[in-house]
Amino acid sequence: MSGVLYAIGQTPIVPLARLSPPGRMVYAKLEWHNPGGSVKDRPALYMLRTALEDGRLRPGGLVVEPTAGNTGIGLALVGRALGLEVVCVMPARFSPAKKALMEAYGATVVTTPAEGGMEAAIAKAREIAAVEGGFVPNQFRNPANVQAHYETTGPEFYRQLEGRIDAVVLGGGSMGTFTGVVRYLKERLPRLKAYLVQPEGSYLVGECGPHKVEGIGADSPETTALLDCALVDGVWKVTDREAHAMLQRLGREEGVLPGGSGAAAAVVALAVAAQLPEGARVATLFPDHAERYLVQGILGRFEEWKKP
Ligand code: PMP
Repeated sequence: MSGVLYAIGQTPIVPLARLSPPGRMVYAKLEWHNPGGSVKDRPALYMLRTALEDGRLRPGGLVVEPTAGNTGIGLALVGRALGLEVVCVMPARFSPAKKALMEAYGATVVTTPAEGGMEAAIAKAREIAAVEGGFVPNQFRNPANVQAHYETTGPEFYRQLEGRIDAVVLGGGSMGTFTGVVRYLKERLPRLKAYLVQPEGSYLVGECGPHKVEGIGADSPETTALLDCALVDGVWKVTDREAHAMLQRLGREEGVLPGGSGAAAAVVALAVAAQLPEGARVATLFPDHAERYLVQGILGRFEEWKKP
């Protein structure tokens, strides 16, 4: 395995000591400490390693993936480290910084129209793979995506919080993080409650529409295949405005600046903590850093962030 791949995982966890309600504590795992800058390095490594091991991917082969961005960065970094060619297909509405990073790590990026959502990107990736003979990891259906979190993120939470966790709050995009982490933790902590965070516009909260928070939010059943519904104690909706307001507070009061999906998770984690008895500990995860979204103005006024 190539050097940088050993740096994936073992990310730090920090208490949100100022924002947590009195007598309760929310702990956030900082996934931007992964070499590619997001939680998605973990499934990227697991999906490519598994495919190389079982022969679906041959050495030096082609990887084609539809991705909201961070998976593409993870796949580009891991794929190139493993000596593979990588093509990422992303809907146009996502962060230009993510596209630039995929290219910097040596991937080719193809964009699909924003209106087509993730489904258009999935269809395009399949088409390229069929023509060029590539392997599509398909993070939305690949069990190795869940396995990465079951074997690394979940155990890290458990160890870092010494097995004392009352609730876990996680955003869901491909649902790999949620299903893997919660499955591992609930096997050990049967009374643990697990809450899934969705942005406004997610079909899981009975809506269908645009939102600015990137990386989470299911726009069709095709993107929720990995969600194990038996693990879900509740789905919470967070608006762009709520996530944005939380980001301002996280930066100023905690010195921690996640992207929009981490801020959305913090909104719910703090609300859940407030409803739990004194002494409660709530775990959450910040998938990436706000720096990845500077071009969109995520740290400016809400109205600026809302501009198309
Ligand atoms: N936040 C961001 C910024 C992401 O890129 C992703 C991955 N799509 C997630 C949250 C959600 O993670 P998962 O795919 O494991 O549900």
